[in-house]
Amino acid sequence: MSIADKSPVDEALRSLPSVDRLLSDDRIRRLEAESSRAAVVELVRAELAESRAAVRDGARPPALAELVTAIQERAGSEWRASPSAVINATGVILHTNLGRAPLSVEATLAVRRAAQGYSDLELDLETGKRGSRHSHVSRLIQRVTNAEAGIAVNNNASAVMLGLAAIAAGRQVIVSRGEAVEIGGGFRIPDVLRQSGAELVEVGATNRTYARDYEAAINDATGAILVVHASNFKVSGFTHSPALTELVEVGRRSGVPVLHDLGSGCLLDTTRHGLAHEPMPQESIAAGVSLAFVSGDKLLGGPQAGIIAGTAEMVERVSGHPLARAVRIDKLSMAALSATLLHYVRGEAELKIPIWRMVSAEPDEVKTRARALAEALGGETRPGRSAIGGGSLPGETLPTTLVSMSCEAHGGAEDLAARLRRGRPPVIGRIEGRAVLLDLRAVLPEQDDELVRAAVGAMAAG
Ligand SMILES: *Cc1c(COP(=O)(O)O)cnc(C)c1O
Repeated sequence: MSIADKSPVDEALRSLPSVDRLLSDDRIRRLEAESSRAAVVELVRAELAESRAAVRDGARPPALAELVTAIQERAGSEWRASPSAVINATGVILHTNLGRAPLSVEATLAVRRAAQGYSDLELDLETGKRGSRHSHVSRLIQRVTNAEAGIAVNNNASAVMLGLAAIAAGRQVIVSRGEAVEIGGGFRIPDVLRQSGAELVEVGATNRTYARDYEAAINDATGAILVVHASNFKVSGFTHSPALTELVEVGRRSGVPVLHDLGSGCLLDTTRHGLAHEPMPQESIAAGVSLAFVSGDKLLGGPQAGIIAGTAEMVERVSGHPLARAVRIDKLSMAALSATLLHYVRGEAELKIPIWRMVSAEPDEVKTRARALAEALGGETRPGRSAIGGGSLPGETLPTTLVSMSCEAHGGAEDLAARLRRGRPPVIGRIEGRAVLLDLRAVLPEQDDELVRAAVGAMAAG
C-alpha cells in the first residue's frame, strides 16, 4: 500500500458507490422509463463527479440513499419541460414575469393544430399556388381595426422598428419630448429610432407639447411624426398633448405620415370596467394615422406578436421591407393570433379571452371564490385591488377580495411564499407586511381546485 492510499480522503472516495451499483438500484432503474438508459447513466456520472469533488474538498461522503435522492432530484430538474405552468395569485393580470396573457382554449387548440401537422401557412388552397403567411390574419386585423390593411410580426418592438425603417430610414422623425422614453425593459424610443436608421427630432417640453410644435419642426427631411403611448407611466398635472386628429391634420398639410405606437392593443372599451380609457387601434385608424402598432400579448389577450395596421400603401411598404423577413411571426403565434382575433370578430372576447374574463369578473364573484379559498386554507378575506400590469393602464386597479394566509405557524410570510412558489403547481402570491396574500382575479375559476390543493400542500410542508 502506498502512503496516498491511506489518506482519509481516498478512503472516503472509495466508499462512494460505483456507477453500476447506483444503476442497479430499483429507484434509479425506474428513471429509465422517463427517458433512456444513456440519459440515466449520464445523471449518475454527473452526481458522482460532484460528490467526488465535494469529498476532495473535505465533505463527508454521501450515503447510497442520499445519492439516490440527489439523482432523482437531478432528473426532476433536468428533465422537466420548461417553462413550468404556475398559478398567478399576484392579482396582476398581465404579469410580464409570468408570461403576460394566457391564451384562450380556442387559441391553444389552434397552436396545437398548427404544431402537430402541416398547414396551409403559405399555400393558397384554392389555386394551389404559393400564398402569403399574412393572409391568415390580415383580414381579421382589417376587421377589428377598420384599417385598409394589416400584418403581424414577431412582437410590437419589432413592429415599431420595422415600421420606422420602412417609412422613415434616412429621414427625420418628430417625437414629443415626453414620449422619447423607455417603454419597458430595454425598449427606448431614441434607440429604436437610431437602430431603424431614422433621426430623432424631439419637440415640446416633457409635460406639454402642442400641434404647433410638430408643425414648426417639419421640413424637407421629415419622414414621419411618431406618437408613442405612455403605457407604463403617467404624466399628471400641468400637461398637454395634441389630439391625434390635430397631428394627422398637421401631417396631411405637409404630406408627412403619422405613426402611432399604442402598445397594449386594447380592442375593447376599458371604461366599461371602471378603468381609465386605454387608446384603441380602431380609434387611431379612425383619426387617420398612417400606421398603428400594437402588441399581441397585452390587452389583446393573445400570443406574443406585433400588429401593424394602416393604409394599404404604407402596409405594403412595410411588408416589402427586408427587415420584415427578419422579424416575421412564426406559425404557432400566427395560429394563436388568428384564433384570438376571431373572438373579437365573433363578439365573444369577454367570454373567451382569459385576460378579459379576469378584467370583467364581477367583484362579488371574486369575493365568493375568495371566501371558499379562505375557508379551505384557514385564512381570512379582506378587500383589496388588482392591477392590469404588463405596461398597460398604469395606476389603474380593479376591486378584488384578497385571501390572507396565516403565516405564524408556517415560518413567516417569506417562508410560506417560498413554499408556495416551490409547490406543484407553483403558486405565486404577494407578501404584504407579515401576510401572504392570494388574489383570485388573475386565477381562472377552473383553476381554483388546483390552487387549493397546491396551497394546502405548501402549508403542510411547513
Ligand atoms: C409594450 C410596448 C411595446 C413593446 O411591445 P412588445 O410586444 O412587448 O414587443 C412597444 N411600445 C409600447 C408603447 C408598449 O407599451
